[in-house]
Amino acid sequence: MHYIVLLLIILVLILVFTWFNERHTLKSRISGLQDELHHKTSELTAQIEKTEKSEKYKEFFLANMSHEIRTPMHAISGMTNILRRNEHLPGQVRYLDAIHQSAENLLVILNDILDSSKIEAGKLKIDEVPMEPAKIITDLVEILSLRATDKGLSLTHEIEPGLPERVIGDPIRLNQILTNLASNAIKFTEQGSVQIICKQVTADGQGMLQYSVKDSGIGIPANKMETIFEVFEQVDGTLSKKFGGTGLGLSICKQLVEMQGGEIFVVSKEGEGSTFTFRLPLIICEKESMEPKATDEQILEKLGRQMSGIQILLAEDNHFNIMLATDDLTHYIPGVRIHTAANGKMAVESFQQESYDLVLMDIQMPEMDGYDAASQIRQLEQNRDDERHIPIIAMTASLLEHEIDKCYKVGMDNYIPKPYQIEQLIGTIHEEIQKSRNTRKEL
Ligand code: ADP
Repeated sequence: MHYIVLLLIILVLILVFTWFNERHTLKSRISGLQDELHHKTSELTAQIEKTEKSEKYKEFFLANMSHEIRTPMHAISGMTNILRRNEHLPGQVRYLDAIHQSAENLLVILNDILDSSKIEAGKLKIDEVPMEPAKIITDLVEILSLRATDKGLSLTHEIEPGLPERVIGDPIRLNQILTNLASNAIKFTEQGSVQIICKQVTADGQGMLQYSVKDSGIGIPANKMETIFEVFEQVDGTLSKKFGGTGLGLSICKQLVEMQGGEIFVVSKEGEGSTFTFRLPLIICEKESMEPKATDEQILEKLGRQMSGIQILLAEDNHFNIMLATDDLTHYIPGVRIHTAANGKMAVESFQQESYDLVLMDIQMPEMDGYDAASQIRQLEQNRDDERHIPIIAMTASLLEHEIDKCYKVGMDNYIPKPYQIEQLIGTIHEEIQKSRNTRKEL
């Protein structure tokens, strides 16, 4: 009996010992695993931080490069426009046109790079405003017809009768997609024609506007039909060297179309031509009135006359930009008086001494930047008793959304990109002057 009890005690002791031993091993294994997990987590965190840092760096780099390139580009394209507008020798026309075209091409590349990174970062927004698709097409054909005629191509458009005149959409992005497709069509076609067709269709029971760009050019091999919509994809790299191009255009078009709930595809045959088609959901615009856009010279001159004699404070440190804005403003606004300030501090001082109708504010300036100057001007206005709100328009080479937002936050009313189209300069100034006149009438 004693033996059995002893045996049992020994057995229990062995079991307890084994349990302790296993527990210990298990504990040290768990702690080993925990260490490993901790190590992996910190490795992963470091990796994420590194990726975020490089994303931020990329964004910062792109924003800065874009700003730095845009500033001299603004001077080049603006001065070329002034030279074309003023008297010049007949033989100089083609050189001026070449500079103008090259500047425009460079700007397209720059905008494509910026757009691509904005889309990638999910920061590109699509507008929903009234627009006239037929007008966008006819304006585009007019702009591109020179390039087509130079290559001996016919560029035509066909708009289905009865197409809704006004729809809701993003006119700038629609123009961008069509410009891209039509420019490619002209680029990759040596003889024959390019045609832009717009009609209404129904896809999956939904009304869509269908835009097609058809050419009789080199066509696309069947195995490349899908991939050409991907970033940096080109059928033939050597052709791109000849014609120029980054391989970004179609991928941007695809993403812009898809962001609007549409689709894009191509039908093509090598040696016979291609038809790029995209469809966007049709939203008919009920509203009758649409803001008239300043598009041609006569309208610009009329807008300019309505603002004759206004006094503008131009805060700008770049000498070329001052020359350019002064020349453009005096050309279109009769009797305009322009006072320049070389930095934000001087702008605030001038604002205190003089009565202006409008302020054009550069953003990056020495001593005090445009944001601070604008917010100080708004503070000065609050201390006045006449309650006048002088429009401040930012002029900026940075088109980043958070920087534009910051302009509005500090009290600016609008912005003009650099390089600007003359319609943007005169149109925006006119819009703000009218608004300020109307508010004064109400007071
Ligand atoms: P890019 O034109 O700047 O090279 P895109 O993304 O606009 O970039 O076009 C990608 C490629 O698709 C072009 O390089 C070309 O090989 C092909 N492609 C585009 N449009 C056409 C067209 N209309 N005809 C023939 N090939 C085309």
